[in-house]
Amino acid sequence: MKKYQGYLIDLDGTVYRGNEVISEAVPFVKQLAERNIPYVFVTNNSTKSAREVAEKLNRLGIQANHKQVVTSSMATAKYLKEQSVKTCYCIGQDGLKEPIKEQGIELLDDTDVDAVVVGLDRDITYDKLAKACIAIRSGAKFISTNRDHAIPTEAGMGPGNGAFTALIQTSTQQEPVFIGKPDTIIMKEALDVIGLPKEDVVMIGDNYQTDIRSGFQAGVDTLLVHTGVTSKEELATFKEQPTYIMENLSEWHFA
Ligand SMILES: [Mg+2]
Repeated sequence: MKKYQGYLIDLDGTVYRGNEVISEAVPFVKQLAERNIPYVFVTNNSTKSAREVAEKLNRLGIQANHKQVVTSSMATAKYLKEQSVKTCYCIGQDGLKEPIKEQGIELLDDTDVDAVVVGLDRDITYDKLAKACIAIRSGAKFISTNRDHAIPTEAGMGPGNGAFTALIQTSTQQEPVFIGKPDTIIMKEALDVIGLPKEDVVMIGDNYQTDIRSGFQAGVDTLLVHTGVTSKEELATFKEQPTYIMENLSEWHFA
């Protein structure tokens, strides 16, 4: 195994499952902390702030502070700022709205805005979707936190943000800019935060379609762990394979 200077790590399915820690991840992250190897958690979840994510990790016995967490919300807010967006109509929860406001962007309940941002909103309504469509038809930029088509809920797989984004796409016939994995904007942000060249880091995740593809797209080596979404059978169907494949993180040896 190559000696990496830094690690980008997915959360759900890699470090925890819902509210349960994946036990092999605990000593793995502990080793990183003890060896002073930089690590950053990278999540498509746009509903929680970096602080909330770090608190959850700490509760589960994983050492992390909020500066080691990159969410699709943070990457979205930075992207809006870079695009000189001043006003925005946002479908989403506080975990998305707060970082946008922190970038000095005004959130308006209006269709006359520079951009529409779509993130997971468990209180989504026809009215919100209609406003987003009307704003986009009036020329607002269309930005979505991620393509996730389904997400785990306690009752089973529910619609993810990609499903609601697709609804707006179908109605407006416009293509959004996607921020989260497998797209590269979130990876660019994660590499900025970890402060290392892409050749020196490895992306670890359980989901081939998001984590591993994000590594391919960003030119970062990848490690797939079979502790979450992607099964061995499914992995075998893909032509491009991860750099490393493991049952769980206990198999990783630090070079
Ligand atoms: Mg995952």
